Amino acid sequence: MDIQWFPGHMAKTRRLIGENLKLVDCVIELLDARIPLSSRNPEIDSLVGQKPRLVLMNKADLADERENRRWVKAFQEKGQSVLLISSTNGKGYDRIVPAVKELLKEKIERDKAKGLVNRPIKLMIVGVPNVGKSSFINRFAKKGALAKTGDRPGVTKGKQWIRLQNGFELLDTPGILWPKFDDQDTARKLAYTGAIRDEILDMVELAWNLLDDLKVRYPKELGERYKITDFETLRGDEILEMICRRRGFIVSGGELDLDRGAAVLLDEFRSTKIGRITLEIPE
Ligand code: GDP
Repeated sequence: MDIQWFPGHMAKTRRLIGENLKLVDCVIELLDARIPLSSRNPEIDSLVGQKPRLVLMNKADLADERENRRWVKAFQEKGQSVLLISSTNGKGYDRIVPAVKELLKEKIERDKAKGLVNRPIKLMIVGVPNVGKSSFINRFAKKGALAKTGDRPGVTKGKQWIRLQNGFELLDTPGILWPKFDDQDTARKLAYTGAIRDEILDMVELAWNLLDDLKVRYPKELGERYKITDFETLRGDEILEMICRRRGFIVSGGELDLDRGAAVLLDEFRSTKIGRITLEIPE
């Protein structure tokens, strides 16, 4: 299986982010806490440059809590501002505004010295597909309380801003970043999390790969979920067969229904039925 990205998107992304960067005070970079490496665009540092940036590890509710803490530490050690959030239950959202204000402290002070008070703080959201950009914008806007329309024109040079009462403005179209498109390992991890449409994937092969990863990273959880033992030396394809047998996924003629097994495995991984799982550890 060879998962393909579309290099054309990359050039377009670079251009769009470059244009929008000039309009904002701070960039919010969303990552998937389960795969902080694979969900990060490898060019992000050069794309964002010196602009203040807050890393939000979204979907923290799906990731391993211990690994979440390790990741936060790893980012902080690199001097990066980072928070764990969940855009479905709102956890961590209280800390976003203070974190952005801390990042922009000097700018806010400078503005104040110039007599410029209550200037809106403009944010742009960036992240790979499916990382939760729209969910973030919706929840953050709700929390910040949408400003009444009519206060000020909402359209600036063709850009749509979401104006909030808490003094923030969000660019309403997030910057879509493309993951590293020449790396199959990255592609696979994104596929596990649902970031790549399942229709273009070989789900059985994907399940084999996921099992190879889980047997190393989360053998206990895997064994408990599917009531299997002694699988540590088996390959992913053999473990999938074991799971199908255990669950009685058999088609007429007595053959194992691998498609069903794969679909169930992926679904149970994505919905944390196997456990809260992080597939990448800090380097
Ligand atoms: P976008 O493509 O980056 O705009 O991503 P969306 O906001 O459309 O989210 C993609 C999927 O992830 C949706 O099914 C969301 O409900 C889900 N999602 C987003 N954020 C979270 C989160 O923090 N936790 C969980 N469990 N699901 C999330």
